Amino acid sequence: MLNEQLQMTSQDYIALENQYNAKNYKPLDVVLEHGEGIWVYDVDGKRYLDFLSAYSAVNQGHSHPRILNALIEQAQKLPLTSRAFRNNQLPLFAKHLCDLTGYEKMLPMNSGAEAVETAMKIARKWGYMVKGVADGQAEIITCSGNFHGRTITIVSYSDDPGTKDNFGPYTPGFKEIPYGDADALEAAITPNTVGFLFEPIQGEGGVVLPPDGFLRQVRDICDRHNVLMIADEIQTGLGRTGKLFACDWEGVRPDMITIGKALSGGFYPVSAVLTDADVMDVIKPGDHGSTFGGNPLACAVAQTALEVLMDENLIENAHTMGEYLRELLRGIDSPHIKEVRGRGLLTGVELHDSAGGARRFCVALQEAGLLCKETHVNIIRLAPPLVITRQDIDWAFDQIERVLMMD
Ligand SMILES: *Cc1c(COP(=O)(O)O)cnc(C)c1O
Repeated sequence: MLNEQLQMTSQDYIALENQYNAKNYKPLDVVLEHGEGIWVYDVDGKRYLDFLSAYSAVNQGHSHPRILNALIEQAQKLPLTSRAFRNNQLPLFAKHLCDLTGYEKMLPMNSGAEAVETAMKIARKWGYMVKGVADGQAEIITCSGNFHGRTITIVSYSDDPGTKDNFGPYTPGFKEIPYGDADALEAAITPNTVGFLFEPIQGEGGVVLPPDGFLRQVRDICDRHNVLMIADEIQTGLGRTGKLFACDWEGVRPDMITIGKALSGGFYPVSAVLTDADVMDVIKPGDHGSTFGGNPLACAVAQTALEVLMDENLIENAHTMGEYLRELLRGIDSPHIKEVRGRGLLTGVELHDSAGGARRFCVALQEAGLLCKETHVNIIRLAPPLVITRQDIDWAFDQIERVLMMD
């Protein structure tokens, strides 16, 4: 196997993948082999600055030594028990996560989509058990342009044709409002509404920020109508936007939060739902679960990933480096740029239609040694690991500026 690998080129790997793997992605043609911090290396040894961070799953940087060590130590002891038995990692992780976030309870899952599914199940059951909604009538309000994952139920309330089309019949019980429109939210609420599910900044939607004050208005509306405010912070949470949660930018505390991605520093799929006891306690033994959810390996990795976030001041660094990067980007005098927006180290550079799409700029940046990915057609998302330094931002900016000055 090793000899075979030594003789393989990028093109060989790409051909194999194209032949045997489902074509459910359209990746940049770079075949990565290892990573360290903000850098990743391809099979030819070429180095790239990672400006995507696995969609914000590697906020702590690639292969962080402290998280790696926690993974190895726990893997040698006990990776999986299932929840049929208890283990000595879940209780410590649960307390750590709740102490850090200020919620009373957590429920551990694996992928982000599972955390969102879990939040919807909790909200529906809360609606029936606590709010008194008639059986089968619960409604959840969602937003245009949302991205919450890929399950049948989640794509049922997507408005992106690529995500949704040909996967029906769709799950009922959802209603859509325009993203960022508080009046539309209030108008859409009925006595059967149990939750409002939203992203505080839409990541996959193209780094879309709601109008200032929206989160506070949502908090107020949800309070007045006894509706659960459910923030999907799978991409925006855990420091990405320069606060622990993006909702902290307006000092708002949602009733429920979903997290994932950076919760494991990229080592392992770990997600969770956070809420208080009055909501979480509607879930009884047997109601919900997952074979791998809350396993000791996941818990040891996630707890260490959270410790790294705090001990290395990554949230503060995301704030200062993000402001610095956007200030530089706003100074670029390129006819292609329509808008530069974002918070912390989550930045979207929206291009004019005349620019001919964001993809060609991402390909040019790959040539220059910087990896990023377009979202939709015209937006370049810039989201490096939160361990990035000013010097590395300066280098990255030089590449971005040069590429955006192309014809
Ligand atoms: C990535 C993402 C998800 C889905 O997470 P997976 O781990 O890919 O299932 C859900 N919500 C948001 C906001 C995301 O960015």
